[in-house]
Amino acid sequence: MSGFVFSEKPIGIERGEGVYLYDTKGNEYLDFGASYACTPVGHCHPDVVAATTEQLERLMYVQASYPNAPRTALYEQLATVAPGDIDNVWLCNSGTEANEAALKFARHATGREKIVATMQGFHGRTMGTLAATWKDKYRDGFEPLAGGFEFVPYGDAEAMADAVDEDTAAVIVEPVQGEGGINPAPNGYLQSVRETTESAGAAMVLDEIQTGLGRTGTLWAAEEYGVVPDILTTAKGLGSGLPIGATLVRDWVAADCGNHGSTFSGGPVTTAAAGATLDVITDEDLPSHAAELGTYLVEALEAAIGDEVREVRGNGLMVGVEVKRGANPILKELALNHDILALPAGRSVVRLLPPLVIDRGDADAVVDALEAIIG
Ligand SMILES: *Cc1c(COP(=O)(O)O)cnc(C)c1O
Repeated sequence: MSGFVFSEKPIGIERGEGVYLYDTKGNEYLDFGASYACTPVGHCHPDVVAATTEQLERLMYVQASYPNAPRTALYEQLATVAPGDIDNVWLCNSGTEANEAALKFARHATGREKIVATMQGFHGRTMGTLAATWKDKYRDGFEPLAGGFEFVPYGDAEAMADAVDEDTAAVIVEPVQGEGGINPAPNGYLQSVRETTESAGAAMVLDEIQTGLGRTGTLWAAEEYGVVPDILTTAKGLGSGLPIGATLVRDWVAADCGNHGSTFSGGPVTTAAAGATLDVITDEDLPSHAAELGTYLVEALEAAIGDEVREVRGNGLMVGVEVKRGANPILKELALNHDILALPAGRSVVRLLPPLVIDRGDADAVVDALEAIIG
């Protein structure tokens, strides 16, 4: 028997420390994908390991209907750092579940059906969130998905205003599209979506599963764009790789959110890991560091390979290099000849999502390698 869903890469990873991963032969790799943004504070950060290990020995699990100390602390911590007056927290185990809950809560609180999503958007792979995910590649052969979904072009405020009406429960949107190719929201777009949803009485769901936790240079991209959504979702890096997601919700949605639940919601070990991860991000001011290093990285890439590629774009340490040929051969060369692991975003974008703790030397190493490959 063998796994059959993922195709595996020919590198067996055995150990991780900070910005590095080590394979079974002892080779060291600079991890510029942070395993899909799941290790914002680096691999095996000692504070996260300590908090998690301590909790593992005390209590691994208790049913969600009893309070447990790390979960109570995380509720408080998330409500404190969430934008504006978002104060209610639902915890789950992945990004798709965080969005699934967001859409359920929005439908229940508004009593409406329609959900508007954006072209090229990615929100997960369950039957509900897949219905909000644009690309056929993810949907083919799985239909019918949940109904009531409509798509509008990303970045087009007018198309959004036309699509949202008195039947609309929610708009779901990423501040920077990740899987769709690293597409930052144009200036003013999210504010306009905020105004449109507010005047229609629909919930604005901001999917920060990839952008959040400091990646784009502020703790939430919502801050940078100056919007407070009704629902904000986070997952990926929240538990430094342990499975945890959160749906952060304003009072009006939380007050009438219907019956929802999950056996593993807010277990003591994953919430301990998340609390420690958030502490590191805020104590070390990693959002500011990501902003500074992101600017440095993008400028260095522009200088080294700007003429050789279509575009370098992104916010903070969420950077896409749109290349003229396919991204995959470049990623393969990066891994096998330069010991650097990065990610694709679609066919033609090399996606860089390093741990937020990288330094300038790490950025230089990636720029030099890409220059050697592309330049
Ligand atoms: C990864 C991702 C998801 C889905 O998260 P999973 O944990 O894989 O279910 C949803 N939205 C965005 C923006 C993502 O990047």
